[in-house]
Amino acid sequence: MTKEKAWGWIDENKKHIVKLSDRVWEYAELGLVEERSSKLLADELERNGFEVERGVAGMPTAFVAKWSNGEDPTIGLMGEYDALPGLSNEKVPLKEPLKPGAPGHGCGHNIHGVTAVAAAIATRHEMEEAGISGTLKMYGCPAEENYDAKVFMVRAGLFRGVDACLSHHPGSINTATIGSSTAVNGVKFHYYGKTSHAASSPEQGRSALDAVELMNIGVNYIREHVIQEARFHYVIEVGGGQPNVVPDYARSWYYIRAPERDQLDSIYKRILRIADGAALMTETTLKVEFIMGLYNLIPNKTIAEAITGNMKQIGAPQHTPEELEFAKKINADLDRQVKIDDMMRQKVPTWERYADMEMADDVLDPFGEDYCSAGSIDVGDVSWVVPAVEYETATYPLGSPAHSWQWVACGAMGLGHKSLIFSSKVTAGTVIDLLTKPELVKKSKEEHSRRLEGKKYVSPIPIDIQPPLKLARDYAEKNKGKD
Ligand SMILES: [Zn+2]
Repeated sequence: MTKEKAWGWIDENKKHIVKLSDRVWEYAELGLVEERSSKLLADELERNGFEVERGVAGMPTAFVAKWSNGEDPTIGLMGEYDALPGLSNEKVPLKEPLKPGAPGHGCGHNIHGVTAVAAAIATRHEMEEAGISGTLKMYGCPAEENYDAKVFMVRAGLFRGVDACLSHHPGSINTATIGSSTAVNGVKFHYYGKTSHAASSPEQGRSALDAVELMNIGVNYIREHVIQEARFHYVIEVGGGQPNVVPDYARSWYYIRAPERDQLDSIYKRILRIADGAALMTETTLKVEFIMGLYNLIPNKTIAEAITGNMKQIGAPQHTPEELEFAKKINADLDRQVKIDDMMRQKVPTWERYADMEMADDVLDPFGEDYCSAGSIDVGDVSWVVPAVEYETATYPLGSPAHSWQWVACGAMGLGHKSLIFSSKVTAGTVIDLLTKPELVKKSKEEHSRRLEGKKYVSPIPIDIQPPLKLARDYAEKNKGKD
């Protein structure tokens, strides 16, 4: 009956848990400057007996909170709290900024972080009460959206000795997927040429912009000769000053993605050769600046099934007519076919049933074994060093887009609150399963090593790259919005 007691604690403390999440929603701080959000959560854990180490891995807003009665296993819980620029919105089902131009929680990270905190505290109480032994580590993970903080946290060795790790992300369905996500490299290509008058002495100029354009052409041609699932996208960040000056400096910024790190490494090498070729053709010089890298996600069906078991035992949240009406208004402009296509792309098995529903009301068994999302997440890197799963609960109307005012609006009202309480219970229940069933941890580790096929994790970011604190502060300043 241990899990039920932890769930009871969450019910008793529901008001406080919701308040914490709403507070983070109001703070809506961007990556690496989440000072108030991070402090709120770290203080809460400290007040509840956790030993908190702040400012880990070179990031002032990253923390690790530990509670232990001196025993194995060690179970990790990850929580995020960064917001997105320009998405500020009132808690209403229409686009109405709370503060124009200011950030908003368009990816639900207010719920993400508080789920892990509430589950950690509920579990800790139950461990003491029921005499369960083990160690809890709650990871305060900043800047998921823009600087992939978990990669720095993995590089700093913070996940060493952890037996299993859990994370929850608000979404539109209740599921612990066993799909994967792509590995990615983010790279800037700086070209240096020579200026001259573009009309009267062009022969003396060497255009850095030409190099950027030729590199893009080369990359666009290679698309046909790489695996289907690879993705490249770029922007030209600097392209010169004005047309009568041959640009002596130009810069592009690329994301290059593939389902597996090995595949990405091989494609990336080819793209570097194209970049060199563009410099050769234009007699310019090239500097490659590696910005960030992520690994593909290693799924874990054992943990996903344990999560699903807890979801089913608790029961998916059901919604009131008012909440469903709110959801309907949120989706007022959504094309039914777009909604269906989105679910089919993600291989949601119940898409036909969901097509005419506003909110998912059931729990799906783990699905998507053969599905790799084209996007990338920094939980991927954690999943290479410890069995880890990030599951999803229905917080937003089916088909509503992520990173939108719609998600901001839902995150701090009934829909968001229900999902938060549900996910806090699901995480607590699964952590208790992992603490009390050694065979579950053993099986998840066996699966983890089987899926890795002997491959080793080498940090994708060079050792001289540190979290970009100044860049983050400047970016936050620019995006704080108007009073
Ligand atoms: Zn997110």
